[in-house]
Amino acid sequence: MKTLVTPEEALHLILQKVTPLSSETIPHRDALGRTLARDIVSPLQLPPFDNSAMDGYALLARDIQSATRENPVELQCLEVVGAGEGAQREVSTGNCIKIMTGAPIPRGADAVLMREDTRQFTKNESGDQSGDVHSSFFVEILASAREGENIRRAGSDVALGEVVLREGTLIGAAQWAMLASLGIAEVAVFRRPRVGIIATGIELVDVNAPLTGSQIRDSNSYALRALALGCGCEIGAVRGSGDSFAEFETALREVAANCDVVISSGGVSAGDFDPVRDVLREKAEVFFWKIAMKPGKPVMFAAFEGKLVFGLPGNPVSVMVAFEEFARPALLKMGGRRALRRQIVAARLNRDFSSPAGKVEYIRAAIRLQNGEWQTQFPADQSSGRLSTMTGANALLVVEAEKTRVGAGETLPAKLIDCPEIEGPERDFPTTDDSTTDDSKT
Ligand code: AMP
Ligand code: MG
Repeated sequence: MKTLVTPEEALHLILQKVTPLSSETIPHRDALGRTLARDIVSPLQLPPFDNSAMDGYALLARDIQSATRENPVELQCLEVVGAGEGAQREVSTGNCIKIMTGAPIPRGADAVLMREDTRQFTKNESGDQSGDVHSSFFVEILASAREGENIRRAGSDVALGEVVLREGTLIGAAQWAMLASLGIAEVAVFRRPRVGIIATGIELVDVNAPLTGSQIRDSNSYALRALALGCGCEIGAVRGSGDSFAEFETALREVAANCDVVISSGGVSAGDFDPVRDVLREKAEVFFWKIAMKPGKPVMFAAFEGKLVFGLPGNPVSVMVAFEEFARPALLKMGGRRALRRQIVAARLNRDFSSPAGKVEYIRAAIRLQNGEWQTQFPADQSSGRLSTMTGANALLVVEAEKTRVGAGETLPAKLIDCPEIEGPERDFPTTDDSTTDDSKT
């Protein structure tokens, strides 16, 4: 067993021990939020056929080279074709087919001119124009078009046989939609890691139970549940445990038997009533204990009866930061994900901060992009018992071990742990007023 490893060494040791779970095949409708267990190779091309990107007229570009608003070109319209239909006729010199977005390009046509660049009319017997569109109908073309304009070519989005999505990818909205487009009705995904949670401490009571003088409510099991769900796990068990060796051993056996991973909170430091430390040391194979970090120093990582065990600290912030740094990447890897690391940005400190030597410190901060720079806000009192330092935070500012002071105006790496919407003006970007083009379908 190693004692006092750096956070980097700890993560390295953990990831060495973690292997992805097995895979299973599930129907497409259940695949949102799951992780692909195989590369997705496209069985078809997208779009499947050449089709129109606009509502307009399918025609021959060379017919309308000279067309302008002042000198329109006149074409006869042979028919009207909508999405889901095919044209009966073929486009040739002097004529065109009215076409809607998504409809197949009629044979002969090599461009689509959008409707806004045309004027539709009919001719009566004397050749005069009228507004009646039920008789033979003509269009005035008011602009030219390039060959291929507004034609979405077959295979221009996805080619047949292309690797569209890689194994290890989280299936989010776009990926789920892509699988549907490709007609992939069954998807091979990794099994979700089953996480078991044990909250140790005789002082703990649940959210709805009455409190006596020396008790507090259990908040860690809720934090851990949420964090585990947030990385694609299912919750196999949640239970409490007293602070005796026997009680924690019983809890550990029960939870380990039903889960892939056990995560405990509390009872892992140097106190007199810290059973996680003692049970793991005696009954499990311990890989390390204690990490040179703040908060979150007392972390024990072990294997018990073939299951990995994270003995995380009891303080409500420590448990969350330790989960974030160690359990999260491990669970993502176990669930088959390739991407394990959070995004990091450089954030500018709004105040001075002192940090102990020899430990990596994680400051819980709210960061926000203002005038092109990430600015920070955080409470000066960063005690690990203050859960309120987490509730407003969307980032962990990382102060390296050797740094003991950082000054206002300096930048620190900020790990984005949560990116919810922020309050602010309704519109941050100028809007363009371009009501002449119909982009409603693009
Ligand atoms: P421990 O590591 O067991 O000594 O716990 C450290 C601190 O965290 C103590 O103040 C505990 O009361 C508190 N604590 C432990 N477990 C929880 C929990 N599940 N929810 C809230 N606070 C806890
Ligand atoms: Mg305790």
